[in-house]
Amino acid sequence: MKTLHINKNKKINGSQINYYFICKTKLWLFSHNIQMEQESDTVSLGKQLHENTYKREKDYLIDNLINVDFIKKRKNIEIHEVKKTPTMEKSHEYQLLYYMYYLKNEKDIDNIIGYIDYPKIRKKVKFELNKEKEEKIEEIIKNVHNIINSEIPEPKKLRICRKCAYFELCWV
Ligand code: SF4
Repeated sequence: MKTLHINKNKKINGSQINYYFICKTKLWLFSHNIQMEQESDTVSLGKQLHENTYKREKDYLIDNLINVDFIKKRKNIEIHEVKKTPTMEKSHEYQLLYYMYYLKNEKDIDNIIGYIDYPKIRKKVKFELNKEKEEKIEEIIKNVHNIINSEIPEPKKLRICRKCAYFELCWV
C-alpha cells in the first residue's frame, strides 16, 4: 500500500493519543481520515452513558483537537473525562494528560488538574502533569507522527477487535 504523507508538524488530537495505546493500526487508519467510529456500538454506548449521566455538563472542543467532557473552575482548572470502565486505563490517562499538556503549552494554562470519572462504578481518578509526564507525552507525539508517516502497521488480533469500527477492514 502506498504511504500517505501527513505533515509531520500537524498537531495531533486526543483520539490519536488514545489509539496509540489501543492499536497502532487503528491510529493509522483514523489519522488517514478513514473514520468509521460512528458505527461502533462501543462508542454509541459510551455516548449514551455520558449523555444520561452528565446531562447538565458541556463538552468543550478546543482548536478542533481536544474534546474535554467538562471543565470546572475551582482553585485550579479542573478538566474531566468521562469513561465507561477503567479497562483501557493507560489510553485514558495519556489522552487526559495530553489535554493538560496542550492547554499548558498552547494556551498558557498551567494550573490544571485532570480527572477521569467512571460514573458506572462511582470512581474518580486524579492526574497531575509533571516534568516526567510531559517528557513522556513528547515522546508519544513523536512516535504518533512516525507511525502515521509510515506504512500501515499490520493488524494484530486484540480482545477489542470485535467491537472496533475497523473490524471488517482488518479481518474480513
Ligand atoms: S480491528 Fe483490531 S487490529 Fe483492526 S484497527 Fe481495530 S483494534 Fe486494531
